[in-house]
Amino acid sequence: MSDFASQNTYPKRKGKPGRIDFNIPEIDRLVEDQGIMVRVIPSVLCPNRTDLGGTNHALGCDICGGDEVVDLDEECQEVWAVIQSIKHNKDAQVQGVWDVKDALITFKKDMRLYYWWKIEVLDFSSIFNQIVERGSGNTDKLRYTPAASCDTPYYLLDKNGNKYIKDTHYRIDNRNLTWLTSAKPVSGKLYSISYPVIPTFRVLETVHENRYYYESFKSKEKRPVNLPQHAVIRWDYMAERSGNKEPI
Ligand SMILES: [Zn+2]
Repeated sequence: MSDFASQNTYPKRKGKPGRIDFNIPEIDRLVEDQGIMVRVIPSVLCPNRTDLGGTNHALGCDICGGDEVVDLDEECQEVWAVIQSIKHNKDAQVQGVWDVKDALITFKKDMRLYYWWKIEVLDFSSIFNQIVERGSGNTDKLRYTPAASCDTPYYLLDKNGNKYIKDTHYRIDNRNLTWLTSAKPVSGKLYSISYPVIPTFRVLETVHENRYYYESFKSKEKRPVNLPQHAVIRWDYMAERSGNKEPI
């Protein structure tokens, strides 16, 4: 297991410990017992900017799709985390009280994350309503991978008010929506689709990032440890990008 602090140890002051002594393994156990399983995907700033000075971003970027960050999917980790609503902090509610905008996520001590990393909640689903432009071929691309194995229905409506039914008029395969018959929205026109998604967040702020601590609980020496990291997260589609391309 990785440790982000040094291996140094220091003698403990003689006498009783101070009133506060964090028991890090206990906090880790709490996160594992009370938490939910999330996938953490690191991301880096997309280098496809127009210059170093500003944040203007190339339109139609092939690397990031206009997101301004490149997600390193192959570097993802699946870990336990506790998510709680910021607005209900005083109630210390965990799991299930997620404000539509921001929430606070807590990891075990060995998890480190950074701004704009992507957090996916694996075992639950939410709903996303997307406006899609009908392409010229048979397949259109969805913004998110639909959540599988859930009972949330799909709704699809074109600009003429025509409704289309999943597995009758179209099929879903990961982010691909493939039209099955000649009954489909007109090419180049927009349609609206509501579908189940894996709840997907972005790290907006890292809290406790640099809160240093020397653990000496039930040990002879003091050693540096990282305190569990907290982060403020926001729904991916509500997290504003800085460049000149609006998120879908
Ligand atoms: Zn880009």
